[in-house]
Amino acid sequence: MAEAVERVRRLAREHSLRFERSIPLIASENLLSPYAKELLVSDLHSRYAEGLPGERYYEGNEQVDEIELLCLDLARRLFRCAFADVRPISGTVANLAVLKALAEPGDLVGTSRLADGAHISSAGFGAFGLRGVKPVYYAWDAERMTIDVARTREILRAVRPKTCLFGLSLFLFPLPIDELRPTLEEIGARGWYDGAHVLGLIAGGEFQDPLREGCTVLSASTHKTLPGPQHGILLADGDEELQQRLRSGAFPGVTSNHHLHAMAALAVSLAEHLEFGREYARRTIANARALAAALHARGFDVLGERLGFTRSHTIAVRVDAEGGGEAAARRLADAGIIANKNLLPGDTSPKHPGGVRLGTAEVTRLGMGEREMEAIAELAHDLLHRGRPASEIRTRAAELKRGFTTVQYCFGAGEAAYRYYDLVGRPPG
Ligand SMILES: *Cc1c(COP(=O)(O)O)cnc(C)c1O
Repeated sequence: MAEAVERVRRLAREHSLRFERSIPLIASENLLSPYAKELLVSDLHSRYAEGLPGERYYEGNEQVDEIELLCLDLARRLFRCAFADVRPISGTVANLAVLKALAEPGDLVGTSRLADGAHISSAGFGAFGLRGVKPVYYAWDAERMTIDVARTREILRAVRPKTCLFGLSLFLFPLPIDELRPTLEEIGARGWYDGAHVLGLIAGGEFQDPLREGCTVLSASTHKTLPGPQHGILLADGDEELQQRLRSGAFPGVTSNHHLHAMAALAVSLAEHLEFGREYARRTIANARALAAALHARGFDVLGERLGFTRSHTIAVRVDAEGGGEAAARRLADAGIIANKNLLPGDTSPKHPGGVRLGTAEVTRLGMGEREMEAIAELAHDLLHRGRPASEIRTRAAELKRGFTTVQYCFGAGEAAYRYYDLVGRPPG
């Protein structure tokens, strides 16, 4: 079995090297800071702390309690809200906690369609289905890549869901929550925002602020544009009863232990975002707009042209002319540019997405700027339009990447981002 252990370690190392040499453009991915990463291998990983600080079921939690109280305080400060819970262990688990808190089986919950950019957790085969709630779909404006307010008002008035979820995984523009707020009030629906993708942009003050625009609950992952550990978070404004429901949704609803190493890493990431998040969010969005414009200038069909392509970290490219989403994403990955195929509005088969989704959260974290966005667009153009071989693009991508392999926008910036064995301190073999 020693062989299996060595094999896993070698594969992890190969994985790190591969990413070190690639251009990482998956919109839901990011890199941890060195101090956050260190906590993931600390002893905290080995421990249990069910319950809340001061009310645990196990002994030995004194330091954990302090870390959790600090983490909660940082979260409330960063998002300027009354309530935080840092126990959900992922974005999906956070959504399940909210569904448990706010909805009963059989309830109607407003959301967007998958093809319009919604996450699988609001699908019948995802968390919605698990809780037994029924989606009420908002109308979509494909040209502006956002919710169609007038038609959605009519739908909400006719169907009257109790809860309305706003939030996307293909999230180009802020959603018109402010405009829909009077309708939500009229039908007595609660606004709930899933900020998994855009949490770091919200915290940086560079995207919409859902808790100020008519949503009382914000759930999210903490590892996308918020460059923290794989984890989840609940944030809210509202009375003690709402807070209590959310707390018990998180525990015992959908977690037992809450991954204390990740929670500690989250505290570090929140503190770092309070310090560096504004600048990081601003640069991330500027890079997305630059990459979109550079691709558009090279003949790519980038969505949202009329509105400047994007206001977030994400851009969407329709790639019918480049062989479809599946083939285009695969060819890019073979050439060292890592992105994903993505459904776009109007796609009829979930098996054949017509687009590719690109995000600039990670390349920005590595210190890339608008000049590098031009260079990336040129690589994609040479590969997908000019027929240059993947091997050539891969070499050029690795060369471009060579100057950008350390993490920025954090304390202790400049540490290697990808080298797996640096952290464990033991070379393989
Ligand atoms: C990524 C994502 C989630 C789920 O996050 P995980 O942490 O992967 O479980 C939920 N909602 C949206 C909108 C997302 O994009």
